[in-house]
This record gives sequence, C-alpha cells and structure tokens, in this order.
Amino acid sequence: MNSSAPETTPLVKLRSITKTFGERKVLDSLDLDLKDGEFVTLLGPSGCGKTTVLRLIAGFEDPDAGTITLENAALQHTPAHLRPVNTVFQSYALFPHMNLYDNVAFGLRMEKVPKAEIHERVREALEMVQLAHLSDRRPDQLSGGQQQRVAIARAVIKRPRVLLLDEPLSALDYKLRKQMQNELKRLQRRLGITFVFVTHDQEEALSMSDRVVVMREGGIEQIGTPREVYESPSTLFVARFVGEINQLAARVERPSTTPGRIHVEVLGKSLELSSHGREYLGGEAVQVLLRPEDMRLKSAEDSEGFAARVIERNYKGMTLDTVLELDSGQQLLASEFFDEDDPDFDYRLGERVKVSWVPDWEIILPDDAP
Ligand code: ATP
Repeated sequence: MNSSAPETTPLVKLRSITKTFGERKVLDSLDLDLKDGEFVTLLGPSGCGKTTVLRLIAGFEDPDAGTITLENAALQHTPAHLRPVNTVFQSYALFPHMNLYDNVAFGLRMEKVPKAEIHERVREALEMVQLAHLSDRRPDQLSGGQQQRVAIARAVIKRPRVLLLDEPLSALDYKLRKQMQNELKRLQRRLGITFVFVTHDQEEALSMSDRVVVMREGGIEQIGTPREVYESPSTLFVARFVGEINQLAARVERPSTTPGRIHVEVLGKSLELSSHGREYLGGEAVQVLLRPEDMRLKSAEDSEGFAARVIERNYKGMTLDTVLELDSGQQLLASEFFDEDDPDFDYRLGERVKVSWVPDWEIILPDDAP
C-alpha cells in the first residue's frame, strides 16, 4: 500500500455504535468507515451483527449509543425513507401483482417525479440489468437471478449514495450465484455507488470486495483488502474464518543473523522463517499458520519437510486435497493443483510422505492471538 496516497474522507462514518436487543448487546462500540464508491463486504458467522449494521445505516433501527454520519452530517435522526440509502433484501421484496416496469417505477411515482422522467429512468435501469425486453412480465414469470436484478434496478433507480445488500445471492444456485457476483461487481463499478454487501460466504466476500470487514460477536475483528485478510490475518479467528488453515504450535528461538528472519522451532525442527515485519522475543510461543494450497508434498526420501502419512485423498476437479497425519497425530490439509503427469501426485492412501510449504508463505501469530 502507498502510505503517501491521500486518504479520501469517508462517505459514511459509524462511531462507537452500540446496539442492544433486550439483554443482548449485539454491537459493542463499533467503528466503521465506508468510502465513496467502494464495494465493502461484512463477513462473519451467523448472529455476529452484520444485518444489524445494515439496518442501522438504513435507518430501520436506531443505535443505543454512537453516531452515524454521511458526508459529516448526522444521519441517525433522519427517517429511513429520507436517507440516500437503499436496501436489496435476500427475499427481493418485489410486488407480485406488478410487472417489472411498475415494480421499478414505484419509488419514483411515490415521489411524484414527472412521467417522462420516470419513463427514461426506468428504461435506463432495466437496460442496465439487461431486462428491458421483459418489462411486461410479473416477478413470478422470472427466474431467481432475474428477480434479483429487478430488485437491484428498483434499489438503484433513486440514485442512492449507498446500496445495502443483505445476502442477496444466497437463494441462487451455485452457477447463477457466480454469474451474479460478477454482474453485481460490474454494476457497482459502473454506477460508482458505495455497496455494502453482507455474506457469511468467505469466497464470495474475497472475490467481490474492495475491502472486507470481518465481524465477530458484535465487533470488528479485521478490515482489509481481500488479500490482506486472507494472506495476513491479524487473529486466529480471521485466519480460520477466511478459508481453511493448518495450524502448528511453534516457539521462536532467536532472531536470525539475516535481518527480517527468525529461527523458529516447529515440530522439533529448527526453521529459519520470515518475521513478516514483526519483532519477536526469544522463547515466545507462536502459531505457524499455513493455507492448504501453500503446502507441498514430496516423497518420504526427501530430506526436507515433516514426515507424514496420507490418510485421505479427495479429487476436487481443479485440485487434489490430501489429508495428512503427522507422527504427532495432528492432521494437515494440502490442496494442490491436479497434475496427472507429476509423479509426486501419485501418493496412495497410507503412503508415507514429506510435507513442507512454499517458503515465506506461512503466517505467524502470537500463541495467545484471539
Ligand atoms: P445472520 O448471518 O444469521 O443473518 P447477522 O450477523 O446478520 O446474522 P444480526 O441479524 O445482525 O446477525 O443479529 C445479531 C444478533 O441480534 C442475533 O443474535 C439476533 O438474534 C439478534 N437480533 C437481531 N435483531 C433483533 C431484534 N429485532 N430483536 C431481538 N434480537 C435481535
């Protein structure tokens, strides 16, 4: 990241937001900035408060404490329908008795926008989601993906500054979901509207977002680009939630004579690893974290790596996933691109191998990292 680049003023700022339902504190002193024109995803397990954040920005809920501003003007006393914010719900919430045209025109008619302008804007919105040719159909005559696009056209026609999307793709089948992910991303870029997208699907969050906000129990665990949260998770929770991870208990022995490197004892071996820019004390307990796709398998005779036994092999099309058991009994997952011509791929169940990883692709976190 270029630290000298000017930071743009956030479009929306949430500060010290606390929200309680009954006895339950759902959000606890949460701070969040949304930049103008970015695609932000709130990612986290069920019940961590993602939807509540959206509902507060939309104005469907009020915070117990804290402030929400849009371009530095306080939002929290502005009623939902007067906020430059729109929401696309998982259920699409289309009017079943109206055709597409009327569904999309509804909001502008309520605002008494002149007829000619409504016509122009509805046409433009339906073209944008490639449904102009179906404008006479009712929602029940459309596929799930098409209904989804109508819901988006209806939400963006009022030209909001912020569009909130609450798991809008979760009802779609896998293929359509992938296609809609790309469509939504393209649409967001074209419109330049800030999208705040909620999902508990980590792959969806990584592939769509400019920034990912990883939430846990009413707070924010980490905010970063998809690569930052995947490759440099700041906590064990993030490392585990954003993809699969192998975890090895280890101990820092001492700094290396090579700057930026440390000697670490892992599974009884002394390895020289990158310190990834952190300072460590000799003797410090750490966790060495490894993504399955960074693991490498070699034959048992190889001088490098840790001895292990193949206990499971799962062919996944693009990759071959191998579950390994170390001599300590700990299991590791290795995911490698499938290559029939590579002799190293020909491991059998029960076979002994050596497992290592791509140098410097490990993640190191303090042992007591949450
Ligand atoms: P999911 O992925 O399951 O939708 P989420 O991260 O969006 O979860 P929220 O819907 O924000 O989570 O809910 C957070 C917590 O607040 C949950 O325990 C939920 O039951 C509770 N909650 C949300 N809305 C209300 C409400 N109106 N009244 C009482 N409790 C609520």
